[in-house]
Amino acid sequence: MSIRITAALFSITALLAGSAFAAEHVIEPAGTKPSVTGSSKIFTGTVRTDSVSRPDADSHYSATYVTFEPGARTFWHTHPAGQRLIVLQGRGRVGTDTEVREIRPGDVVWCPAGVRHWHGASPETAMTHLALTNVKDGKNVEWLEAVSDADYAKAPGTY
Ligand code: MN
Repeated sequence: MSIRITAALFSITALLAGSAFAAEHVIEPAGTKPSVTGSSKIFTGTVRTDSVSRPDADSHYSATYVTFEPGARTFWHTHPAGQRLIVLQGRGRVGTDTEVREIRPGDVVWCPAGVRHWHGASPETAMTHLALTNVKDGKNVEWLEAVSDADYAKAPGTY
C-alpha cells in the first residue's frame, strides 16, 4: 500500500517538476506547461509565451519562447543585465532609438543592459524567438511605453 502511494506521489512530482535520472539530470516532458497569452500592458498585438525555465540557484536567466503574430511587438523596455534572442521561425524586427533591423531564423541578437529596445514580428509574417534574459537583483526587465505604429512602420535599416 505505501509503495503504491509512494509511486503515485513520485509520478505526480515527476509530472510537475520533471523526472530526475542519472546524476541529477532532469527531463521535463514536452507539453507540461501551459501557454500564456501576452498581456496588452507589455505587448501590442497578439503574442503567446511558452516558458522554458525560470531563474534558479544554478541558472541566472529566464528562457521563454515568444511568438508574435504579424504586426505584434513588445513595448519599449530595458534589461538590467542584458538579453539574448535566438530567432527560430518567421521574420521579425528589433528596434532601438536609432535603428530598426530585420531578424530571421538563426539570427542571434544581444540586447545590452540598460539600452531601450523592442522586438516583434514583421508586418506581414509572424516570428518566434527564444528569449534568454539575464536577472540582476531579482529583475530581468523594466517595461516602458508602447511602440507607436509610426515607429514600428519605419523601414528596417532606414530609421
Ligand atoms: Mn528585450
